[in-house]
Formats: sequence, C-alpha cells, structure tokens
Amino acid sequence: MALFPQQFIDDLKHHADIVTVIQDYVSLKKTGATYKGLCPFHGEKTPSFHVNRDKGFFHCFGCGVGGDVLKFLELHDKIGFQDAVKQLAQRFGMTIPELEQTDDQRANAAEREGLLKVHEAAARWFQEQLASPAGTRVRQQITDRGVSATTGEALGLGFAPKSREDLKRALMAQGYSQALLLRAGLVVQRDDGTVIDRFRNRLMIPICRDTGSVIAFGGRAVDSDQGPKYLNSPETPIYTKSRTLYGLNLSKAAIRQGGFAVLVEGYFDFAQVFQAGVQGVVASCGTALTPQQAQQLRRFTGRVVLSFDPDAAGQGAAAKSCEMLVAEGFDVNVATLPGGEDPDTFVRRHGPRAYGERLKESQPYLEFLLDRVAGNHNLNTDEGRVKFLGEMLPIAGRIPDAAMRDRFGDRLAFKARVTDQVVRDAIRKAAVQKQPALSTREIATFGQVTKAEKGLIWWLIHEPAPALEALDTIEEGDLDGVASRSVLDLAQKLNQNKGFSPSALLERLNIAEAQLVTSVASEPEAPTLALASCVRELRRARYERERAGVQREIDRLQTAGDSGSPQMNALLARNGDLGRLIHGLVIAED
Ligand SMILES: [Zn+2]
Repeated sequence: MALFPQQFIDDLKHHADIVTVIQDYVSLKKTGATYKGLCPFHGEKTPSFHVNRDKGFFHCFGCGVGGDVLKFLELHDKIGFQDAVKQLAQRFGMTIPELEQTDDQRANAAEREGLLKVHEAAARWFQEQLASPAGTRVRQQITDRGVSATTGEALGLGFAPKSREDLKRALMAQGYSQALLLRAGLVVQRDDGTVIDRFRNRLMIPICRDTGSVIAFGGRAVDSDQGPKYLNSPETPIYTKSRTLYGLNLSKAAIRQGGFAVLVEGYFDFAQVFQAGVQGVVASCGTALTPQQAQQLRRFTGRVVLSFDPDAAGQGAAAKSCEMLVAEGFDVNVATLPGGEDPDTFVRRHGPRAYGERLKESQPYLEFLLDRVAGNHNLNTDEGRVKFLGEMLPIAGRIPDAAMRDRFGDRLAFKARVTDQVVRDAIRKAAVQKQPALSTREIATFGQVTKAEKGLIWWLIHEPAPALEALDTIEEGDLDGVASRSVLDLAQKLNQNKGFSPSALLERLNIAEAQLVTSVASEPEAPTLALASCVRELRRARYERERAGVQREIDRLQTAGDSGSPQMNALLARNGDLGRLIHGLVIAED
C-alpha cells in the first residue's frame, strides 16, 4: 500500500470540514458546542450521533462508533483509508500528490507482477494439455457434463496431467524460478525436499480477478476414487479466497446491464447458467459468501437472485449468504428449484427457458424465509409464536434500512399476531446490538478503562499541550496491562516525533480505539481528575499490580515452608518498599 505524504493528509483534514462532509449523509442540527443527528450506523429515532467540528471527530452515544472525518467515510461507504482520502480530496478539489513508494512496496509490486505472469503461463499450459491427446478423457468428461466447447473456452478450462513435474519443467523452461512457482502454489515441496506439481490429474478451472487476470486455480479430480474432489490454490499475495467471486470477470458487464446478479454455488452451476444465456452469474464456490465478496458485487449491482434447493434451504451456505447480503443492504431474491436440484442439474434436465422462468418467479428472500420459518412453528400456540419471533427478530434487526425494517416488522407482527409496536421495538433493540454497519469489521473490546486513562485521553484531545507534558512523565511500566495502552502509546510515539495533534491521533486509531477516544472526548466537561493525578493513579496502579505479584510469590514460598531464604527476604523488602511508594502517592493526592 502506497502512502500519502502526511503533510497532504493534514492539509486535507484542515480543508475538509467534518460537519460539511457528514451533512452529505446525515442531517445535523447545532446544539451547543456540537452538532447532533440520527446515527447512520444504527437505527434510531432520537439523535445520539454527535459531531464535534472544532476537534474534528464524530461519536454516537447509541452504538459507540466514532472517529475522524476519514474514519466516517471508511465506515459509511465501507471503503479503505486510501479511498477515503481520495474521495475527500475530490470532494474538496484538492490534487492528490504522487504516492510515495517504499522499497518494500516496490518489491511487493514486483512479486505480484511475477505471480500474475506465472499464473497466466500456467493457464495457457493447462489449456494446451486439455487440447492435446492426453486431454481426451477430460474433454469427454466436460462434454458429458453438458458444457460446450465454447463455454469451456470462455471459462479457460484446462487439464493438469498425472505426471509429477511437467508443469514445473515447462514453466522453469520459460524462465520462471522455482521460488516463484512455490510462492504461487503451483508446485509444492514435499517432506523429502522434492518439489512437485500441486495439481495432478485434474480438470483445471482458472479463477480470475474481475479484470480477467488469472490469480488462482480450482482443480477437479478426474478419477472418481481420487481425493480430494476439488483442490484449490492456496492464498497468495494476489489471491484471497474470501475476496474473490468466481466468474465476475465474465459476468460483470451482464450484471451491470441486467441490474442483478444470479448467485450459484459451484463451478459447474456457473457453467450451466452462463451457457443457458443468463450471463450475469457468479459463484461463491461452495462456502457462504463473505462481506468482502458482497462488496465486490456491489460495484456492479445491489440485487442478487439465489437458486435454492428448498429442502436444503436454511441450513446450507446459501442461507448464510442470503442473510449476510440482506445485512449488507442487498435486495435478495430466492428462486426455488425442485427438491434435490441445483442449477447445474436443473438446466441440464429442464433447459434454459425453464430456468429463466424460475428466476422470474423468484421471491424476496425475507418473504421466503418468513413463510418457511412460519411453516416450522405452530403459530396458534404462544410457544410457537415466541420461537418464530426468536428466529426472525435477529434477521430483521440486520436489515440496514430502517423503513424496510419496520415494514418487515409489521409483516412479522401480523404473522405472529402481536402488535406492530412490540415487534418494531424488539427489532430496534436487535438492530442496535448488531450494529449492522460494522458487521464486517472486527471490533476489539477494551477491558476496564480507568478514570485516570480517560482523563489523559480527554486532555489529549481538548488541551494537548499540558496533556503531552503529563504523558512525558509516564514511565514504561506504568502502562503495562493498561486497557487503553495502545492509544496512550500512540500518543507518546507521535509526540516523540513532534507529530502529535488530536487530529493525527484520531486518524491513526483503529475502529475500537476510535470508539473509546471519541466517547471520552465527547464528554463536554473536563474530567474531575487533574492531569497530575491521572499520572499518579497510573503509577499507583502499577505498584499495586507489582505488589499483588510479590505477595503471591511470598504466599507460595511460605506454603512451601520457606521462612528466611535470601529470596524470601528480598521479596519482603520489596513488598515493604511498594507499600511505602503506594502510600506516598496517596498522600500526594491529598
Ligand atoms: Zn449509532
């Protein structure tokens, strides 16, 4: 990842008024020193979302989310820091400077380039093998599965022969190093040190970026007794499974044009549906769709149709994918297929037209789910209604759009014969707990943050100069095991490099840290604990921690019958010292 010069980020944040930016998304009212509005990250009716213009941060007292203007864009538009910077620069008409590249980044770029090239060469070689006499049997298998030669070519299908080193030899003859082949996962090193082809006796399916570059392979076993049935490339610097949607390179134009994507599970489902003329199709490849894959898809459409086997519905990866897509704000429809059929078998048995009909008759996922779950419970009993709502409420709570959530809540209430308001309230609660906008992110939780830590953080944002002086007097051990250590460490580091400002601190925090800092900084009044007391408190807590450890050790030795060994005496002496140190700090406090 290339870096923007810090000077540029500082200028940008200076120009990009946080209130102006957030007002593009949230209507804000000035109340006192801050601006207030309805939080865009959780459903609410009374505003608990605050924006502090002077200090350049936002914070929601409802769901806890917070950060600077860039963090807002990252969270709201679900984009990375780089993209947030670019977007903001564009909004305020600032020219983005040439990106700096470190040596590491240059090396990585060169490596990625090499990996892309070697994948391309391997794909070509696999295709040649499929076309050769050695590929006859696999060609027949492809035909038997109802995949035409044209479709096979569009997918770039190939064949990896049984031999152990043919691919390795072929690629090394083209000048690719063994190290690169290993890095690409095209060959594997065995325990005895020999390096052999990873894919042997397999039908090869190239996996591409949406730009069309081959970045990995799926290999399907040719013989029925050969395991595993599917073997995939490992993850590499160019391939992350959870971020790759199979087939998007072939279907993105059709998805954009048609306004929706058909989501299927396997390579052969993809091949059949694509061949049937439904070209806006992608495959999740067996596992439930990830939020990152959903983001890939969102660049082209916000509507998805899934083909469901109703017998398997609610259990498999498809149901998980549906729920995640709903939570990410997609319109999701379900096209049910007859029991036991997947798109591959259905298209082969009933033809493309029948499949097209199924897609046309598809039903919104939430409706589908409502009917199915309702069918599983006896809604004439209280117990059945409670269970039904228990299953549906968490799903309803993940619907990001508040109006849609309420409408769905009313449908639930009708089914369960409960009043609308009860269900709406329950859903709102579920929605707040879920924090849907953050569903894709890891949120580390902080342990108990003490008053002293909160005090330091408050002053760092509101009165940096004295806070930094206080921070300078903190010794390294003072922060051991302290909940907000990462924040205070960062502030110290920035200060040592003469780069501390509240804005620079906020910008470098991760999501959880930003939540903590903005929640503390949103307190309108200075904390009751003075800065010097904060530092003393941290020191005292450190001595208390040490004393507890010393005491444990003394107890242990005593239990073992020790009374007067040099070690014991040293511990007793330290215990006394610590007691005096702690007492001294408490006296100073008064
Ligand atoms: Zn919120």
